[in-house]
Amino acid sequence: MRYPEYVVWLKEQYAKIVFEPDVVEEIGPRHNPVRFPGSPPWNMDWWIKFNDGKHAYLYERWFPMSSLSRGSTVGRRGAFSFHYGTLGNKVRPTGWPAREKSGHPAILRIDLDPKGPHIHFNGEEPHIMQDKVKGMRIEDTSPFDFVNAVLSYRKNQGQIDFDAIMNFTVVK
Ligand SMILES: [Zn+2]
Repeated sequence: MRYPEYVVWLKEQYAKIVFEPDVVEEIGPRHNPVRFPGSPPWNMDWWIKFNDGKHAYLYERWFPMSSLSRGSTVGRRGAFSFHYGTLGNKVRPTGWPAREKSGHPAILRIDLDPKGPHIHFNGEEPHIMQDKVKGMRIEDTSPFDFVNAVLSYRKNQGQIDFDAIMNFTVVK
């Protein structure tokens, strides 16, 4: 995807979200190319704070499709992390919230990082790799799939868990 297409896609998808009134603050989704105007690499960061101390923090990191082709304008999503849980006090140097894995474990986090696609579900451990997650292709998960799942989870007061909402099954 190219950056201008991404901007349009993000705006369209964002417009479809129906937020409940319990959002106390939302920062983002912020997105910007980090080196060349209108081209990869670009970042997306999005932080949603709810009135019960929970929060969602999502980021995506998009890289040039090929480092070989000079001036490549096509980006690929090389890394992302979509987190939902209680909010701690630690912040990243960039000002976005840092993970606090012991005091504020994930209720759900979906990650694509050098470990490979995996999730954290009702706790930081274990890392549940893709081969144990049936019904959901982790690397294709969009930030909007995640935010809509969070809103649905909150609407149901946690009575319907994320695996049912997002149609995945964790196998042994
Ligand atoms: Zn992880």
